[in-house]
Amino acid sequence: MSGDPDTETSIEPPEITTETIHHVDDPRFTPENVAIVTGAASGIGRATALVLAANGLTTVATDVDEDGLHETVENGAELEVEGSLEPVVCDLTDDAELEALVETAAEAGQLRYVANIAGIQHISPIESFPMETFDLLYQVMLRAPMYITQLALPHIREAEDGVGAIANMASVHGHYVTRDKVAYNTMKFGLRGLTKSTAAEGEGDVRAFSVSTGYVKTPLVLNQIADTASERGITEREVVEDVMLGQARACEMMEPVEAGNLFAFGLSRHGKHLNGDDLLWDGGFVNTYE
Ligand code: NAD
Repeated sequence: MSGDPDTETSIEPPEITTETIHHVDDPRFTPENVAIVTGAASGIGRATALVLAANGLTTVATDVDEDGLHETVENGAELEVEGSLEPVVCDLTDDAELEALVETAAEAGQLRYVANIAGIQHISPIESFPMETFDLLYQVMLRAPMYITQLALPHIREAEDGVGAIANMASVHGHYVTRDKVAYNTMKFGLRGLTKSTAAEGEGDVRAFSVSTGYVKTPLVLNQIADTASERGITEREVVEDVMLGQARACEMMEPVEAGNLFAFGLSRHGKHLNGDDLLWDGGFVNTYE
């Protein structure tokens, strides 16, 4: 995004370095234990896969984007992560592929952790929102997390101590909404319901939690700036400054690795009292009206 003063911002996806990864002290964070991370070819999913692998877990990194997944694995090699990163190409809209994904993870060691992170966005008012796009967001962002949870739970319960956790990537849009994002808003609120339901059935051993952030420097955000500008009739700079950062008391967007670090902490033994609720790391966004 360079050259055009109207679009020039500091929201290029930043590089992840060893120094930015938080290392969590947890005896279960070893290569014998497995985490599935969806959306792992880009943005927050990639960062989370790298953080979990750096923390020693065998990490099944999955995405529909095969080239992006390879880049994630290359990043892991550059960072010399301790746990292995196993790329699995999987389209979250395909049940057979989801079944194969969870089987692969269960065969890689003791499946204990899931991070449902993949997501997409579509900006349009309700009256013209394409129903097939609404269905696609439902499949990727709500149905797939539910089905992965259903498939993973029996494997997690097979662990000697039965301990594990399922984390879902929500958003400030799981707390309040912005207009013209009806599918996204609906799926994020739904994901918080799935999280609470999973916690309720986890018997305290399998925990569930969600992570909600404001705007994070990822391609998903970069790609919606132009559409939001045209929907609202404002400039792209105004989208960043007024819409995306508008109410937050933080003056800069979060970095993907900061979200990845939250997943690692929440999944770890330090998160043992976090069950059913949300890690709201939004820079003050939803608490601030003016
Ligand atoms: P991103 O676009 O960088 O990554 C999303 C990934 O999901 C991509 O790699 C994409 O290939 C994958 N994906 C999409 N459809 C898929 C499918 N059918 N099957 C398998 N994979 C598929 O986005 P991101 O910003 O890293 O967002 C990740 C999650 O974080 C999303 O759930 C998003 O809603 C949420 N989130 C993002 C922000 C933000 O500001 N970036 C803020 C709050 C929440």
